[in-house]
Amino acid sequence: MSRGNALVVGGGIGGLSTAIALRNADYDVHVVELRADLHSSVHGVGIIQPVNALRALDAIGCAEACMAVGCSTTAWGRLLDVDGNLMREMPGSRIPGSDLPPMNGLTRPQLHKILTDKAREVGAVIGYDKTFTTLDDGPDGVRVVFTDDSRAVYDHVAGADGVHSKVRPYALAEDLKPVHLGRSAFRLDIPREPETDRIILQAGPEGMAGFVPIGPDLAYLFHNTTWEEGRWLDQDRTADELHERLAPFGGLTGRVRDKHIDDSTEIVFRPEAWLIAPAPWHKGRIALIGDAVHAVTPHLGQGAAQAVEDGVVLAECLAQHGDHEEAFTACGERRYERCKLIVESSVAIGEHEMDPASHPDFDHAGLTQHVLESMARPV
Ligand SMILES: Cc1cc2nc3c(=O)[nH]c(=O)nc-3n(C[C@H](O)[C@H](O)[C@H](O)COP(=O)(O)OP(=O)(O)OC[C@H]3O[C@@H](n4cnc5c(N)ncnc54)[C@H](O)[C@@H]3O)c2cc1C
Repeated sequence: MSRGNALVVGGGIGGLSTAIALRNADYDVHVVELRADLHSSVHGVGIIQPVNALRALDAIGCAEACMAVGCSTTAWGRLLDVDGNLMREMPGSRIPGSDLPPMNGLTRPQLHKILTDKAREVGAVIGYDKTFTTLDDGPDGVRVVFTDDSRAVYDHVAGADGVHSKVRPYALAEDLKPVHLGRSAFRLDIPREPETDRIILQAGPEGMAGFVPIGPDLAYLFHNTTWEEGRWLDQDRTADELHERLAPFGGLTGRVRDKHIDDSTEIVFRPEAWLIAPAPWHKGRIALIGDAVHAVTPHLGQGAAQAVEDGVVLAECLAQHGDHEEAFTACGERRYERCKLIVESSVAIGEHEMDPASHPDFDHAGLTQHVLESMARPV
């Protein structure tokens, strides 16, 4: 028997995970996604899945499929200097009693397909090219008017519509804007070299270059680099720009730079921004999850992991408490400190990377290990 119905706004990683978790807890679920289809809602190249992401995906029946198409590793990574010499091993963390690996990498389109297929399999209804125009939270439910003029009433609404969330003003006391870190990220899929059997980080003078295995023969190169907010970069200049910025690197980064960086159309360039909303993350029957309340820079590979965890915990709390106020309050209590640790640690790593000489005692590998071990603990 249905426990009630829920609308999920946003069909990204967090929204789809929430939809699956809510369906599995016997809610009727509708998802509305602004973009035209499954593929147009996927940005970027690959995704890092730390062990806590895999645990949360396992809870919604998607971890095995991710590991089957991706590349699982026996350790988190390795930190090298600009010339490619080993500085630190980064073991990552495991969950006692589970055989999930410290890290799995896969492509974003693969992850989106796995989540979309599962959401449909469990009976969530996904409407593309569609969003809401108004949300009116009343005693009997949230009255929603959609962009195609259809209307419906929902017991619960989950805003999973990302860092520029339109649901956010309905749920937070005051609206927030993401903070730009003064950094941007270049990403590019490349053939996987044998040494990319884990995340490889290479510390440059003002930015980290690195490699993430995302398939048996596939990896992505990334470079997080200083970039003033608002500065434009034409897509057809991205290869030249990345070449220049990777000029100081030797080792693997130097070899890949000289061999694979020539096609600007293949390079994904994204500014890095962060945001942590003060709790509570709900008002009445409307709750927020994912980047809408805790957007994070990519330095710990945890943004999507937290969005999946949000969805799993939200559904658990609703199933356990029934009443939306109790459920959303319990959910916030389980989520806030965890997400805050991720956001603050990622920003600290990003700031250190921009100017390593000013933070000589900063322990990048140590902070990463601390966060990964914290995330492996129960949610
Ligand atoms: C360069 C980069 C690399 C990253 N790498 C990693 C990584 O390796 N591992 C990791 O865990 N995280 C990573 N992240 C973070 C991760 O991508 C995000 O944290 C994650 O995608 C958040 O999921 P979300 O569902 O909350 O939001 P989003 O992924 O932004 O999804 C929001 C969805 O809502 C839709 N939408 C927006 N507005 C509306 C609306 N009004 N109505 C309906 N739909 C709407 C959007 O089209 C989108 O599909 C990275 C981020 C960046 C910038």
